[in-house]
Order: sequence, then structure tokens, then C-alpha cells
Amino acid sequence: MIDETRIARRGLILILSSPSGAGKTTLTRAIAADPSWALELSISVTTRARRPSEIDGRHYHFIDREAFEDLRARDDLLESAEVHGNCYGTPRRPVEKVLGSGRDMIFDIDYQGTRQVRSKLSGDVVSVFILPPSMAELRHRLERRAEDSAETIERRLANARTEIQRWSEYDYVIVNDDLQNAFTSLQGILAAERLKRTRRTGLGAFVEQLLAEGDGRA
Ligand code: 5GP
Repeated sequence: MIDETRIARRGLILILSSPSGAGKTTLTRAIAADPSWALELSISVTTRARRPSEIDGRHYHFIDREAFEDLRARDDLLESAEVHGNCYGTPRRPVEKVLGSGRDMIFDIDYQGTRQVRSKLSGDVVSVFILPPSMAELRHRLERRAEDSAETIERRLANARTEIQRWSEYDYVIVNDDLQNAFTSLQGILAAERLKRTRRTGLGAFVEQLLAEGDGRA
């Protein structure tokens, strides 16, 4: 049987965005942790304070504002944005390394970052927006997480309205009512995008080889 993954193609950038609490981080981490998808996770830098459950270097690189401004000034960030009063950015070098070697990378970034990445690498970007099933459920999920102050939660809920309004800028939209269903949808998107003809630089050679085999008689 032919192994599709052995036909060369360009690496793709899978971006997930959503308001805080819609489940995007859980989905991003779940698909990145499954080795069969062979996805590299982009680790952002942020000036936000680390949550108790977070590990520096694994969830984010936690840095101060001065270090952030330094990175930005040196053009070391592929994109950057201010979200909920903190700065976030994607280190450029790891992205170039992964894409350069034909592998795929997954990003958990907001709509401002998505716009910037799309404007730089449009053909390689696949964007997915995650919606909560209801605003009540979004509030419930933020409160249940219990890692942010009441003030932070209110701020995130207020910002959620602005973020949700960006849904139509994305290629795909998943309503995360059930995490397992949402995960299945996300895997379906990635599987289909990997098969897209325009991405598969090795298809021409494969077809030529196929035709050179004649009518299949031994
Ligand atoms: P949180 O503070 O909850 O981890 O993330 C807040 C928001 O910032 C989320 O919408 C998340 O997707 C976004 N975010 C995280 N990293 C980046 C980044 O590197 N760039 C941009 N533009 N947004 C980011």
C-alpha cells in the first residue's frame, strides 16, 4: 500500500483561535501531543504572569516587557499582539526551521496574530475558529478553571464578544459543545488539508511514475 505521507508536500501552519475558555488550548495541546499527527507546537512568548499549572518553556516562555520589546525590535517575532492587557508573540526562528524541513506547525494565537501570519505566509495557513456552545458555558468554563482572578475572568468575558465577531475571517469553524467531537473535527480538517493537491509538491512525480508503469500487467 502507498504511504501518502511519503509524497512530498509543503509544511502547513494550523492556527486555532477562540475566545478564552472555548477549549482551543486543550484542543491544540491534544493534537500536538499525539505523535501520529507529527505536529510541532509553537511556544509563544508572553508578558502575562504564569498560572500555577503552567511550566515556563512548555506552555509559554514567560518574559518581561523589556525582553519582549527587545525581541520585537530585533524582528525576532513572526507576529505579536496585545491581548487582555498583556503582550504575546510567536518566535520566528522555530517556525522557519519547522516549515523549512517540510513539517507542520500548530499555533494557539488570537485573531490579530492570525492576520499577521496570514499576510506573510498566506498559502500555507489553515485557520480554525473555536466557538463555545453558549455564553453561559463560556463563563462556566472560565470560572471552573479557577486559575484567574474574578477581575481577569470578567475582562476575558468582555473581550470574548469582540473575538467571537472575527469568526468569519477563518477557514473553518468548530462549535465546541463536546470536546471529543471537536477533536474529531479538528483531526478531519488536518487530514483533509494535508491531502490538498496544491500543497503536494511531489504529486506530479508520483503520477508520472504511475503512468510509466504502463497498464499494470506484470
Ligand atoms: P492566555 O493568556 O489565556 O494563555 O491567552 C490569551 C490569548 O492570547 C489567547 O487568545 C491566545 O490564543 C492568545 N495568544 C497566545 N499566544 C499568542 C501569540 O503568540 N500571539 C498572539 N497574537 N496571540 C497569542
